[in-house]
Amino acid sequence: MKPYVPSGKSDEGSALVLIGAALLAGLAMGGLVNVIGQFIRLLLVFPAGMGLGVGLVASRICAARRIRAPGLVFFAALAGGLLSWCTDFGLDYLRARHGIRVQIEEVVAGLQDQQGILDGTIERCVDLTLVRWGRGQEMGTIDVAVNAYGETFTAEDGVTYAPEEVKGFLPPLVGYTQHLAAQGMTISNHGGKGSNIGAIGAVAVWVLDLLVATLVAAFIGREQARQPFCERCGAWYDKKETLLPVAPAGASKAVIEALQRGDVEALARARAPIDPRKAFVALSIRACAKCTSAPRFVSVAAIHTAGHKTTRKDGVRGLVEASVAESLVKVLAEPAKG
Ligand SMILES: [Zn+2]
Repeated sequence: MKPYVPSGKSDEGSALVLIGAALLAGLAMGGLVNVIGQFIRLLLVFPAGMGLGVGLVASRICAARRIRAPGLVFFAALAGGLLSWCTDFGLDYLRARHGIRVQIEEVVAGLQDQQGILDGTIERCVDLTLVRWGRGQEMGTIDVAVNAYGETFTAEDGVTYAPEEVKGFLPPLVGYTQHLAAQGMTISNHGGKGSNIGAIGAVAVWVLDLLVATLVAAFIGREQARQPFCERCGAWYDKKETLLPVAPAGASKAVIEALQRGDVEALARARAPIDPRKAFVALSIRACAKCTSAPRFVSVAAIHTAGHKTTRKDGVRGLVEASVAESLVKVLAEPAKG
């Protein structure tokens, strides 16, 4: 048995299609989760859902465009997962900006000298409000007024208010993030009275969510690119497998060794009757969907049935020459001698 190594090839123009689809899926999943998030937020479940959505899209494109480049699919799906998280976070940010804008507009509409109001006052005041949130400061009516007119004002109690400029889009976003972190995050169990996990907890949850969304997407996407592919036929191997029980779980080492040497006789010797209620080792064999001459993709599966639940764990896997695989099947088709 030799390891299956994906060729790294794909249909022409596939990389762009894949990256575009993964990013679009990220946007869509982030938007969807954000809408649902207005009513309910589930820790880790929602980011995992976003990752799953992006990963499945990447996986479908990978299969359809015959992409045998696991690294490419991994990073494209990772980028899609990242975008889903950013979209969710960004939509919350835009919603916060909108809420502030409505308030600022009211204050500005109430100012006496409407002629003297500078262009772009509303957006500037929204930016400034967010920057001040980050500092834990309020944005009062007088603050809005001095920024609307661009003039310094000294109140009767001697406090001076001066206009303040915010440069670029980053400081308001940072202020907003600091404000959110400072508020912490309230986590409740089944809708009960929650406890606040504080600023560090809130940031930890963001990071965790981000990791879950990106890695779930990346690993699901990559799995398809790692599937066996027949380069001569230009086709994926058949999904349908032939599953052949070999021996009780205790013999798995001998089975793997025989398989790795391609030693059919040793495998026949390792063979023993199995008790389906106990753990056993089986071989899963898959062939090219179009030809019979390509090597077979064989994996060693540990199968265990407890009650109604069957668990399967695939371990060592790789390619076995077609002729060897056929003799294996022949040997395993005969009943095991006790
Ligand atoms: Zn083939």
